[in-house]
Amino acid sequence: MSDQTVRVLLVEDNPLHAKLIQRLLDTEMQLRCEVVAVDRLADGLGQLERGATDLVLLDLILPDSQELETLFRIRSAAPDVPVVILTGLDDVKLAAHAVEAGASDFLLKTRLNGVALDRAIRYTLARKRAHGGEWDSPMFRLAQQQFLKAAQFMNLDDNIRQRLLFPQRTQVVSFPFFRDDRAQVETVFGYRVQHVLTMGPTKGGIRYHEDVDLGDVAALATLMTWKCALMRLPFGGAKGGVRVDPTVLSKTELQRLTRRYTAEIIDIIGPDKDIPAPDMGTDEQVMAWVMDTYSQQVGHAVPAVVTGKPVVLGGSLGRKEATGRGLVYVIEAAAEAIGLDLAKSTAVVQGFGNVGSFAARFLAGAGLKIIAVSDVSIGLYNPAGLSVNALLEYVAKNRVLAGFPDAEPISNAELLELECDVLVLAALQNQVTAENAERIKCQLLAEGANGPTTLEADEILNERGVHIIPDILGNAGGVTVSYFEWVQGLQNLTWTLDEINYRLKAILLDAFARTRRRAEDDQLDLRTAALIEGIARVTQAKLLRGLFP
Ligand code: NAD
Repeated sequence: MSDQTVRVLLVEDNPLHAKLIQRLLDTEMQLRCEVVAVDRLADGLGQLERGATDLVLLDLILPDSQELETLFRIRSAAPDVPVVILTGLDDVKLAAHAVEAGASDFLLKTRLNGVALDRAIRYTLARKRAHGGEWDSPMFRLAQQQFLKAAQFMNLDDNIRQRLLFPQRTQVVSFPFFRDDRAQVETVFGYRVQHVLTMGPTKGGIRYHEDVDLGDVAALATLMTWKCALMRLPFGGAKGGVRVDPTVLSKTELQRLTRRYTAEIIDIIGPDKDIPAPDMGTDEQVMAWVMDTYSQQVGHAVPAVVTGKPVVLGGSLGRKEATGRGLVYVIEAAAEAIGLDLAKSTAVVQGFGNVGSFAARFLAGAGLKIIAVSDVSIGLYNPAGLSVNALLEYVAKNRVLAGFPDAEPISNAELLELECDVLVLAALQNQVTAENAERIKCQLLAEGANGPTTLEADEILNERGVHIIPDILGNAGGVTVSYFEWVQGLQNLTWTLDEINYRLKAILLDAFARTRRRAEDDQLDLRTAALIEGIARVTQAKLLRGLFP
């Protein structure tokens, strides 16, 4: 689960109820709760004034306030903080009125248990995000800021600028799936965002993560547009996501979730419309379920509806390792351009999933010494070098890196600041920020993840002379081989691994050369140059197609 803490204000004057609720909050929640308990409204209002509350659990009948008056005073003290009413059996009608008046939910104290309370808190917070700040994610702000910076350099026509700032099509769904006990039904939010429909079908991964929101998915769809255009692939950008922690779901739960999500977005996906692929938290098995669900609906097998599927179902050779492999092709080209001898270099890799683990493998193959790696569970440091094969074997058995012998444990924050030649970011967004950018000590920073460097950090790193391989260039190997997979699927033919890797390398190195040329000609950093390459192509296509009607 997320390590985010929910700050709960419990306003309840019955000491027995207060004690029970406090115990449930301390022991039975999926999210970690930090609880402040008070028994009078005045104390609750005082606590809200301090501003450190995410959610209020509220008894409406208190010694110093009664009925809806209690809710109104809480709401006027903190209008943005959601309120869940705690009610007795006698007061259910009053609680229902409270929900009409703006409370998020109510719970019957006499039937209260951990599951109900946990749900009420999680869903209330999810609804608040859905209603309010869905678009307002740091990741979306980053994608928009990067675009605006490039647009400024390009002197982009303002009509096009406005058009490209927000996605063209967005679908938000909320859907249920059974947990394995068949007693619980979990309801989650899902998204599919198509940023630009001008270039051909849209293309982009599906992410399962507990922090996914509309803004994140929109940001990732935007980056996909620039990435596909930079690689000259005939796609616009898209992305999907489900706000769920896949690590706590069984395989059968994951399958039910995936099939229902696919059914919810089925009208807007298809081999000529929008073609999903794996991203964080999803893999080739998930793609097989998406393909099967889609195929069942249309009545025949449609392998080209997804990419990144297993080879036996029409997946492409080399797709699984394509992002990591492509990143290393670009690292090799960048190292040559700046005169860095990779055979004598050290590398640090953050994230040891699909992208990070293959990147580590190919870097080790290119002669680099991998001195540190990390995943969500731990960071591992060994200045003498880690064996990537041993790490891969360990993760295959244990799922995560925690517990791996022959290395010193370090935090993810420490790992980023290690002295090394090549730092590969292959986990999450927002990892290098204004806060730690001064302490990053690599020569070459390679972005396997999407959006791992904030705009302020970018500027600090550029000033300090750190060479950055931006995400839309560095991690484009995945979508490029996805394109090959789609082409093979449409034509029912199979390319060999050598053919795939040869074409992949040619496309990536061509994009790298164009980006570098533009950066040199216009005195730009590599990210802005790469964005301009992509944006210019989309702009040209938009102008040629014209405006309907
Ligand atoms: P994955 O789920 O296979 O792996 C993610 C890795 O990051 C895991 O090792 C996980 O433990 C680790 N991680 C999660 N939270 C972390 C944290 N707080 N600190 C350190 N490590 C953490 O995902 P992936 O497919 O490898 O994707 C990684 C990144 O690469 C994402 O940003 C994704 O959008 C991007 N990307 C992936 C592909 C692809 O083909 N899979 C293509 C382009 C870009």
